[in-house]
Amino acid sequence: MEKLTMEQISNYCKQYGFIYPGSEIYGGFANTWDFGPLGSRMINNIKDCWRKRFVGQRDNSYEIDCGIIMNPKVWEASGHAKSFNDPQVDCKECKKRYRADNLISSVSPDVNPDLMTYEEMNKYIKENIKCPSCGKSNFTDLREFDLMFKTYRGTISDQKTEIYLRPETCQGEYINFQNVLRTAREKLPFTIAQVGKSFRNEVTPGNFLFRTIEFEQMELQIFCKPGEDEAIFNFNKKQSMKFLTDLGVNPENLRFKDHDKLVFYASAATDIQYNFPTGWDELWGIHNRTNYDLTQHSKFSGKDLSYLDSETNEKYIPYILETAAGVGRMMLVFLCDALKKETLEDGSIRDVLKLHPALAPYKVAILPLIKKVHSEKAKEVYNKLNNYFMCTMDDSSSIGKRYRRQDAIGTPFCITIDDTTLENNKVTIRDRDTMEQIILNIDDIPYYVIEKTMF
Ligand code: ATP
Repeated sequence: MEKLTMEQISNYCKQYGFIYPGSEIYGGFANTWDFGPLGSRMINNIKDCWRKRFVGQRDNSYEIDCGIIMNPKVWEASGHAKSFNDPQVDCKECKKRYRADNLISSVSPDVNPDLMTYEEMNKYIKENIKCPSCGKSNFTDLREFDLMFKTYRGTISDQKTEIYLRPETCQGEYINFQNVLRTAREKLPFTIAQVGKSFRNEVTPGNFLFRTIEFEQMELQIFCKPGEDEAIFNFNKKQSMKFLTDLGVNPENLRFKDHDKLVFYASAATDIQYNFPTGWDELWGIHNRTNYDLTQHSKFSGKDLSYLDSETNEKYIPYILETAAGVGRMMLVFLCDALKKETLEDGSIRDVLKLHPALAPYKVAILPLIKKVHSEKAKEVYNKLNNYFMCTMDDSSSIGKRYRRQDAIGTPFCITIDDTTLENNKVTIRDRDTMEQIILNIDDIPYYVIEKTMF
């Protein structure tokens, strides 16, 4: 089957109420998006699955929820205040702006900008690259582009303090390391998890949900004894990949990609990449950050963030293993992977969103066969099932059209209420993927659906 383009996917999302362009009635606002009724449900389902797997089902894993705005010293310690930037060039002819590394890798796929310094990138672009938009070769010098959004605290102008919207969630976990260690009465290794918004003033945001200026991240920071880090890194690599394949992503569209150049403090870094409509790109980063973060925060805060091992009496700064994925980017992966155009036996084509049922916005659609005759009973079934899982009811147009709509939004089960239901309390329940139908007693539906939609 032909791969759908990013534009087709974004149009589809808008049509069905998953995702709308941000501030649309004002002509939009570049690379911001609003999640509609179905998109919000799906986003929450992704986060629920992640929490269940990485917090609920893991020993010694604790979720926290930190502020978006933190003491600016946090960003001095992390290094962001000084050097969180991307390289940018502009085409002087058509004024198009590019992130220099992305420009090089898209125009010269055999060249790896990760291995270049900014000076080398600048030289390479000037000598080898033509603007993909206008075809000319007349770029500005490469400049560093500050990725942090700044704002101010305080009301009196000369006493205002510059503060930042966090560009990553993980610093909140680092600065709360000792709070969680103490209040959870933990020992190493243990994990602090967080799901929350981050903000980056990206040079060239774009590609629908792939790169936005405001996005949510789901992160684990695993604190451990030096020497235990490598095994934990490898375990988490496998578990992150398994999470995606357990949720139905085709393994052929996923791969690990080790970083060619490590940041100076890291000892290992790999990305899980997905084969997006625009090509292979990062979805999930897994990093061994060594003891860098806690060392920095010890230095800048003046607090001792070392750990005293009560069994061996050793004192050391823990190592940190990190797994970080974007929620919106992951939603895009699930959508790209699940959206299919299927040709049926009679030659007709259906759009079907073959999401893992745990991710589907609605688990069940209740469809009265004839509105006037069966709606009352359908409402009764709807009210009952809504206590267990998200349901929707649709009594408009032909039953065939209603099935198609539910297929297109990924609803795993459709329940038809007809004369038989009125007679004996039995319903027909149709499976989205096989389109097979079985008869069930109304009282048996909750257990049947819960079992089949659980993650
Ligand atoms: P990239 O190379 O794509 O800019 P990164 O390596 O800077 O990403 P991290 O800082 O490791 O990303 O963030 C972890 C995850 O957060 C990424 O793998 C991605 O899923 C998500 N993410 C990062 N930046 C964005 C963004 N601008 N929009 C949406 N998701 C993002």
